[in-house]
Amino acid sequence: MSRFISQKFEKLVPYTPGEQPQDKKYIKLNTNESPFPPSDKAVSGVSDIFKRLMLYPDPECTGLNEKFAKLIGVEKDEVMAVNGSDEILNFAFSAFCDKEKTAVFPDITYGFYEVFADYNGVPYKKIPLGDDFKINISDYFNANATVFIANPNAPTGIALTLDEVEEIVKNNPDNVVVIDEAYVDFGGESAVPLIHKYDNLLVTQTFSKSRSAAGARLGFGIACKSLIADLNTVRFSTNPYNINAMTMALGEGILDDEDYTRKNCKKIIEARLFAENELKKLGFEMTNSSANFIFARHKNISGEKIYKKLKEKGILVRHFNGERIKDFNRITVGTKDEMTVLIGKLKEIIKEEFK
Ligand SMILES: *Cc1c(COP(=O)(O)O)cnc(C)c1O
Repeated sequence: MSRFISQKFEKLVPYTPGEQPQDKKYIKLNTNESPFPPSDKAVSGVSDIFKRLMLYPDPECTGLNEKFAKLIGVEKDEVMAVNGSDEILNFAFSAFCDKEKTAVFPDITYGFYEVFADYNGVPYKKIPLGDDFKINISDYFNANATVFIANPNAPTGIALTLDEVEEIVKNNPDNVVVIDEAYVDFGGESAVPLIHKYDNLLVTQTFSKSRSAAGARLGFGIACKSLIADLNTVRFSTNPYNINAMTMALGEGILDDEDYTRKNCKKIIEARLFAENELKKLGFEMTNSSANFIFARHKNISGEKIYKKLKEKGILVRHFNGERIKDFNRITVGTKDEMTVLIGKLKEIIKEEFK
């Protein structure tokens, strides 16, 4: 840290992204990316864009917003494209939180929420999940704070039903409720239809997981027009050109090939079921995941040991040090072939451990 850093950032602890080591080729099951590349159809529109890169991109993201809005059944001014859904989460902390309107979220959830809170100078409270890692919805009623919930939650993968989400939204008439649906396409129920009924609901989605575009940085906020207008105030005050022209073209291409996305999600759900079954046979227990990852612990081997041994064997998974979750690893669901390799390596590890 230099002696010049602003006082407000002196104590800021940044978010730690999952490792992206470049030393050798790993099977990457640590950051919940898709194992499938964007489709040829999705990519085909991008090359034309390079010849037009001397121009600024459309700050209204007109074509992209229209296509996305149509797909999810809302109006184009009820959506807002963002540079990865992390950006809209940050905007939400800026737009809807302050010293009086603080923030609440579960103790075990996406690690970025507390970083965004700190970055924006917003006090926050973490509400413990139950012993079963489930969210108790009534803990969030009349929160007197902006509510942030990932649904399905990360890293547990456990989903709330749409009715449960609605209860939280309904019981916070004077607070914004942010539902982070990064993993909704792998088996969750989207709260998007509720934006027409509640003016305090913001749903966020991303193209980084189900839509094979983590590298392009594209996400969306979905809410009633007035919330979107507030978020646009923040966006136009920081980075009106947050979506670059290449990403905009790719995003439209991805939306033109929705079949491909749906097929891939189906494959991942199948691979998840396969891997869950195999893991159980090896003595793992896991939460009930509706996401593209499995949150699992072994009955005899520590989470850290499994993480390290898998890394030695060329497979990356995500291990967290948090007290309540240190026995677990979060394993991204890749292709069925990748899951087969994973199971093989885990068998080796178990054998080495008990020889
Ligand atoms: C991956 C993830 C995001 C952010 O994804 P972007 O790549 O920024 O779109 C947001 N929330 C959760 C819970 C995530 O796991």
